Amino acid sequence: MVRAERVHKSFGAVEVLRGIDLEVRSGEVACVIGPSGSGKSTFLRCINHLEKISAGRLYVDGELVGYRQRGNRLYEMREREVAAQRRDIGMVFQRFNLFPHMTAAENVMEAPVQVKGLRKAAARERAAELLARVGLQGRMDAYPAQLSGGQQQRVAIARALAMDPKLMLFDEPTSALDPELVGEVLDVMRRLAEEGMTMIVVTHEMGFAREVGDSLVFMDEGVVVESGRPRDVLTDPRHDRTRTFLSKVL
Ligand code: ATP
Ligand code: MG
Repeated sequence: MVRAERVHKSFGAVEVLRGIDLEVRSGEVACVIGPSGSGKSTFLRCINHLEKISAGRLYVDGELVGYRQRGNRLYEMREREVAAQRRDIGMVFQRFNLFPHMTAAENVMEAPVQVKGLRKAAARERAAELLARVGLQGRMDAYPAQLSGGQQQRVAIARALAMDPKLMLFDEPTSALDPELVGEVLDVMRRLAEEGMTMIVVTHEMGFAREVGDSLVFMDEGVVVESGRPRDVLTDPRHDRTRTFLSKVL
């Protein structure tokens, strides 16, 4: 579903991604860990084409992200094509990013109505289903400010799911939450994983990574240092850098 081949990304003279290689198969959950500044968020943003890669190849569902290939040459996609690609990828950030002036249901309905042209009544019905799926039946008409952080984050997940994504990207979805609210968000993510969603999750939640992840990817200084089955990486890391990092977070 996602394949990165020697992906590089520079900001000016600073090379943030220095040749990322990674494969995530359909239905798999890859958890990504690594020190601050190692390029985790930048990598997710490249997958979603919020950032353009500087070199290498990045595929989502067999398609090059942001480029068309003809013969041996690559052509940049137009903004419309990029938007169409991005539509298939759901993203949930650390901060909830809900529209504050819209209710939970309106937040979830926004993209299907605006982007897909779904009728309001149908969109609201679907929003009700999605909000129920994240355990928020009954809070359809609450505004973000009336919801807890964990509830807001679950609305954000429902909102991402409303576009029927093939892939969900999570960038530290529980890092901004009070500890007692982390579990309810992880539970929703776990269920999503069980239903077969392909997910890439940047997280510090090692318990989640161990139980839900099909793979655990350790990034440092813009490269994938190692990846493997979470249990193996956590209990028997092959690289000193992984071991040092894990000794600080476990
Ligand atoms: P954290 O765990 O703190 O979220 P991260 O692994 O997600 O870190 P990134 O946010 O991807 O790291 O940042 C990697 C590096 O790229 C950092 O040094 C950051 O300052 C730099 N960087 C990120 N975005 C930009 C940008 N738009 N312009 C310039 N530098 C950037
Ligand atoms: Mg980050």
